[in-house]
Amino acid sequence: MTGPVVVAIDGPAGSGKSTVSRAVAHRLGLGFLDTGAMYRALTWWLLNNGVDVDDADAVANACDKPAVLAGIDADGPTITVDGVDVSGPIRTAEVTAKVSAVAAVPEVRARLVEIQRASAAAAPQGIVAEGRDMGTVVFPRATAKVFLTASPAARAARRAAELRAKGVDEETVRRMAGDLVRRDAADSGRAASPLAKAADAVEVDTSDLSLDEVVDRVVGLVRERVSA
Ligand code: C5P
Repeated sequence: MTGPVVVAIDGPAGSGKSTVSRAVAHRLGLGFLDTGAMYRALTWWLLNNGVDVDDADAVANACDKPAVLAGIDADGPTITVDGVDVSGPIRTAEVTAKVSAVAAVPEVRARLVEIQRASAAAAPQGIVAEGRDMGTVVFPRATAKVFLTASPAARAARRAAELRAKGVDEETVRRMAGDLVRRDAADSGRAASPLAKAADAVEVDTSDLSLDEVVDRVVGLVRERVSA
């Protein structure tokens, strides 16, 4: 196989996508693209600029105004809007609650997909890209496609542990755990590029696997595909 490697990793919130994708990128010396951070960054900007995020027309009209940029270094990924670091603000409960509505707007997806493809093209060795539609829409010809799943209980527990580790209070932990279920339903049920497993993706259920086990499996799959 020639050309840069593209590893497409999709799955619902709390399936371990970000941690796994970053570790795989690190092991293989590839770039890392967190596309969820881009949808969150745009949501943050819309909320801060008085755009009603439940009004799809208003979102469509405003979505090409800010410059959303994701830095793809797996050792220190960055996310900026008009040059401002928004890595903290995009993880708030407010942005998390609103991001699915923004991500359902086709104009938003068209704009961010274009940036995602350009970021991948700029990664010299290739990239590990994670999100909801990497294998189905953004990189249909990816070297390897992985669909990560986990039981609802495992996903909720993982997300709660992440939040607690950041010092988030229990009330917010509970609210954001409930949000996870609602967000998955919205992401899977929308018309534009819903969360879905590509026909040629390999599904890995991470519920009872350690991070190292999942990473080994994905790295093994990529090596297999590269040497095929
Ligand atoms: O990955 P994360 O949970 O940070 O993604 C936040 C939200 O961004 C998702 O709930 C989904 O609505 C949206 N998203 C998307 N397509 C992607 C990545 C994320 O619609 N490729």
